[in-house]
This record gives sequence, structure tokens and C-alpha cells, in this order.
Amino acid sequence: MTTSTSHEYHHLHGLLQQLDDAEQTLAHGPGRIAVAEKKVAAAEQSCMDQKEQIQLLKKTVDQNSLNLKSREAEVSKLTLRLNEASSNKEYDIIQAQMASAKSADEELEDQILSLLSQVDEADEELKRRTNEVSELKQKMADIATRVRSIEPGLKSEIERLTTEIAEADAVIPTGESRTTYQRLRAAMGPAAMALVEGGFCTACNTGATSQDLVRMNMSEFLLCRACGRILYLVREE
Ligand SMILES: [Zn+2]
Repeated sequence: MTTSTSHEYHHLHGLLQQLDDAEQTLAHGPGRIAVAEKKVAAAEQSCMDQKEQIQLLKKTVDQNSLNLKSREAEVSKLTLRLNEASSNKEYDIIQAQMASAKSADEELEDQILSLLSQVDEADEELKRRTNEVSELKQKMADIATRVRSIEPGLKSEIERLTTEIAEADAVIPTGESRTTYQRLRAAMGPAAMALVEGGFCTACNTGATSQDLVRMNMSEFLLCRACGRILYLVREE
């Protein structure tokens, strides 16, 4: 491989790598937006779940409050009956009923208080989740803006690199070699080529035979016998 040919291979390989980088960055953009969108959707769902949870708690509070009211009415009735009690025995029975009703009422009141504090906590959690949704929406908008702002630059870079590669790959001999290059490039992108350093393929670390080195020195199109990449040397001028 003559010095100039080897440099042309090296130049072509560099362009293929640059094109691959630009194409990957471009392709990566929509994916990044989609990931951000998914995060927003999950956070919104978590807000809805929390709202449902709060409604359920409030419903239980209402139900318990109603129960408490009807129980209190029961106690009032017992108070009336107590005043009208006609015997000590009846009086004692009613008083015992009132005591047990009152202690049940207290339990219910405690339950309602505990539920109300659960509602407060759940409201706080909802606030936190709602803030998270706005933060994630902001992030998503930022990502989308960034992705869109670099898109035109990437597209024109890809166009420029494609043109340069079409000129640079004239270094590949026509015929079978060119077909092989095109097939490898389509399948592997920049990994279609590998630099040989110190007599070894830098992609798979397999040593080139002395015959390979002679062929490379004679500008022959050569594939790595282990990984199948197009090999090239870079020699100092
Ligand atoms: Zn190799």
C-alpha cells in the first residue's frame, strides 16, 4: 500500500466514522423525546391514581361521619329512655347501653380523624406528583427543542459526508473489491474497515501474516482473515 493510498483508506475510514456518529445522533433524537414522553405519561398516571385514592379516602370519611351521626341520634334516644326509666334495673341496662354506644362513638371519631390525616398526607403527595409532572414536561420540552435545533446541522453534515465519502471511496478498486466494500459498509458501517497497527488488526487483534503485509504494501485490497474487515496500514511519510 503506497503511503498516499494508505492515507486515502484512513481518510475514508474517518469519514465513515463521522457519518455513523452523525447518523446515530440524528436517529437517537426521536428516541430521547419518546423516553421523555413516556416519563410524563407515567407521572400523569401516578397523579390520577393518587386522585382516585384521595376520593376513596374522602368517601370513607363521609360514610363514617354519617354512621357517627346516626349513632349519636341513637344515644340521644337512649338519653330520653334513661329519663323515663321506670326501675333501677332498667336504668342500669340503659346506662350500660349508653356507655358502650359512647365508647363505640369515640372509636369511630378516632377513625375519622385518622382518615382525615390520611387525606392531608395524600393531598401533599398529590402536590408532589403534580409538580413532578410539570418538571418532566419542562424537561421533555427542553429535550425536544435541543433535538430539533441540532437536526438541520446534522442533516447537512450527513449530506456533506455522504458526498465526501462518494469521492473518497474511489480508493477502493473497482470490481469485486468494490462490491465487497459496499456489502461490508451496508452491514457494518465504519466497522467495515480496520486499521492495522504493529502488524495486528485493531478490530479483532489478529496478526496479519507477512504475506498480508506485503500485499498491503502493494496497495492490494485485503480483508482480515479473522474478522473479514477491510484492512489498511497507516505509514509515516
Ligand atoms: Zn480483524
